[in-house]
Amino acid sequence: MVSRSRKALIIGAGIAGPAAAILLKRAGFNVELFEAWPYSAGIGGGLQIAPNGMRVLAEIGVADDMIAAGSVADSFDFRSQSGRKIGSINGNMVRRFGQPAVNMRRSTLLEAIVNKAWCENVELRFEKRLARIEDRADRPIVAHFTDGSSAEGDFLIGADGVHSMVRQHVLPDGPRPFDTGLIGFGGFVPRALIEDTGIGQRVEATFGTSGFFGYGLCSPDPQCGAMWWSTQPSQGLNAAAYRAMDQEVIRHHLLDFHAGWHEPIPSILHAADNIVATDTLDVATLPVWSRGRTLLIGDAAHATSPHAGQGASLALEDAMRLACLMREGRDLGQTFQAFEQQRRPRAERIVAIARRNGNSKREFSATGAWLRDHMFKILIPITSRGMDFMYAYDAGNLTSRPERSGQRDRQAA
Ligand SMILES: Cc1cc2nc3c(=O)[nH]c(=O)nc-3n(C[C@H](O)[C@H](O)[C@H](O)COP(=O)(O)OP(=O)(O)OC[C@H]3O[C@@H](n4cnc5c(N)ncnc54)[C@H](O)[C@@H]3O)c2cc1C
Repeated sequence: MVSRSRKALIIGAGIAGPAAAILLKRAGFNVELFEAWPYSAGIGGGLQIAPNGMRVLAEIGVADDMIAAGSVADSFDFRSQSGRKIGSINGNMVRRFGQPAVNMRRSTLLEAIVNKAWCENVELRFEKRLARIEDRADRPIVAHFTDGSSAEGDFLIGADGVHSMVRQHVLPDGPRPFDTGLIGFGGFVPRALIEDTGIGQRVEATFGTSGFFGYGLCSPDPQCGAMWWSTQPSQGLNAAAYRAMDQEVIRHHLLDFHAGWHEPIPSILHAADNIVATDTLDVATLPVWSRGRTLLIGDAAHATSPHAGQGASLALEDAMRLACLMREGRDLGQTFQAFEQQRRPRAERIVAIARRNGNSKREFSATGAWLRDHMFKILIPITSRGMDFMYAYDAGNLTSRPERSGQRDRQAA
């Protein structure tokens, strides 16, 4: 039986943290959630939550709000730099997977899940940056923060993202994030700029000789309801270097880089403001995801480069699987092991797909790009079917009876 008094300390109020907080609370635990930054609305670029992630958002109770505040994205059309269509994937997502894929602003999602956690009486603490963890036998586990304060709990969940401090506690000599050599830029522009092309529920994705450009609708807001992103080789400059530059300098860089690419790419770049630059990071596979009473979830456990559009959905799935397993009331060590056993094969398969996808955005010779585009034409229909496993996954729910142990292990991937 679950002890009602057990308390979870969760580090990180990104995507995995608040989702796990809500679901663990519903599974009967006390939860305190700590975030390094102050609460702030409106940060970040656009992202897509795939049907597998939307299924968890539906369980949490915010899927309809996200569909209303975002934009359903039913398919991806791929183009060459000149605008020639080279293939299309997905389509009929609701019919096939029970949920749509939805483009949204990251801030819309974060606000919705943090508000939900708030409404469900999760104790939320902002401006609490984890410094270290103390896990001594016969005493509660203690999270120490950089402001000198601390908190005690029965177990600790590290949902603190790619640069995870909790990961350093679990694996003091473990892998650190590395730069993949690609840099991302993104932002929002008025809907009319791409709506006039008849984009509807498609996301357009263009592969250049070097780099990649994507765009799609992401909210009903006429002024900033279209999202765009550019991925390109970083050429020795990281995101921090771009962030220090004037926006006009970044815009000129992007216009130069994408010169000659098909419309509406140049128009989007002319209209773009508040351009955000992000490094594209990856972390090598971790040998373990837990140590003692501490478990890693989301990017802290299996950071993925963004090229499969699945990192946030995986983080949501982790939150749901963890809550389902914790509700079974097994010993903590067994629960953490079962979690890793169920989640690792799937997460690693998707991380590998993201790495492969990222390689298509690097520099090609003109002939190499031509060959790649022709290979895409043949491979896209096959690859598309091979991606159904990502969207079809059901992380479970807290309304049905707890599963018998082992039942989920068999369908892990
Ligand atoms: C440019 C870009 C585009 C992307 N697009 C998509 C997409 O379209 N679809 C998709 O599914 N995924 C996408 N991803 C990946 C996705 O954003 C991540 O996989 C997802 O955010 C992981 O969620 P998380 O909660 O594990 O980590 P995060 O969202 O990174 O949250 C971690 C939180 O922990 C906090 N934190 C960190 N350290 C501490 C500390 N010491 N103490 C307290 N708090 C701390 C952070 O401030 C942050 O709030 C994209 C990623 C990037 C970079």
